[in-house]
Amino acid sequence: MTADETAAAAPPPGEPPAELPVELPVELIDSHAHVDGPEFDADRDAVLARARAAGVRRMIVIGAVGEPTSAERAVALAERDPDIWATVATHPHDVEKMTPAWWDVHERLAVHPRVVAIGETGLDFYYDHSPRQAQADAFVRFVDLARRVGKPVVCHIRDAHAEALEILKETGAAELGGIIHCFTGTPADAAAYVALGFHVSFSGIVTYKSAQPIRDAVKEVPLDRILVETDCPYLAPIPMRGRRNEPSYVVHTARVVAECAGVSLDELARVTVSNTCAVFGLPPTP
Ligand SMILES: [Zn+2]
Ligand SMILES: [Zn+2]
Repeated sequence: MTADETAAAAPPPGEPPAELPVELPVELIDSHAHVDGPEFDADRDAVLARARAAGVRRMIVIGAVGEPTSAERAVALAERDPDIWATVATHPHDVEKMTPAWWDVHERLAVHPRVVAIGETGLDFYYDHSPRQAQADAFVRFVDLARRVGKPVVCHIRDAHAEALEILKETGAAELGGIIHCFTGTPADAAAYVALGFHVSFSGIVTYKSAQPIRDAVKEVPLDRILVETDCPYLAPIPMRGRRNEPSYVVHTARVVAECAGVSLDELARVTVSNTCAVFGLPPTP
């Protein structure tokens, strides 16, 4: 290459050289991922590598779907990867099937040093896959477990905000701290959880056209209480909607949440990383 050609290839002053990515990834934490699930068995390592390349080095794996093998798998992932932490519980959808043996698994894993919260637990009166009373009973019992092990609770609440707020107040769950994950309530619901001391986590749903009330709810959550998550493999954010969701996609959710909160993506990334570390008691990011 001649000197002239080099000069011609150089970018105009003030622009980055072409070989560097124009937009370096911001650092984010996926605060709620189900990468323990069978949906990722074929390519889990590639998914985790893509997350890291996209700036999502750390994630919280929620071991709560179906049988407690989900909890066991989440803990196993956290044991082998220093950037992954686990939570354990049984999802409100599945609590009807819980046996004493399931509770024993959760009791045993809850004290594991890589388990940073109890969840997801709560109430889902949209699907009603388990009877409402069974959901409420398990929710109370998981909050009690969280209290005994001194860890926060990850709450899954859908179409049951009044009932959930009542349980959270009665059980004093706010003292433990916790997250209302994949928030789908109204701005007033968000304000009520914040007033109780909870963090609120937004998923890809916030990017969907029909989700204006959820975008409005972002404004009710102070910057120091907001988290972002994928809830993968479900709920891929726009522009990935329809695909299997994965942790690297959390940036699309973060971008919309930043817009709603009136801050830059960089600022939203900084505060959500800090909030996620604070609520789960993670060591600060290096
Ligand atoms: Zn959930
Ligand atoms: Zn989940």
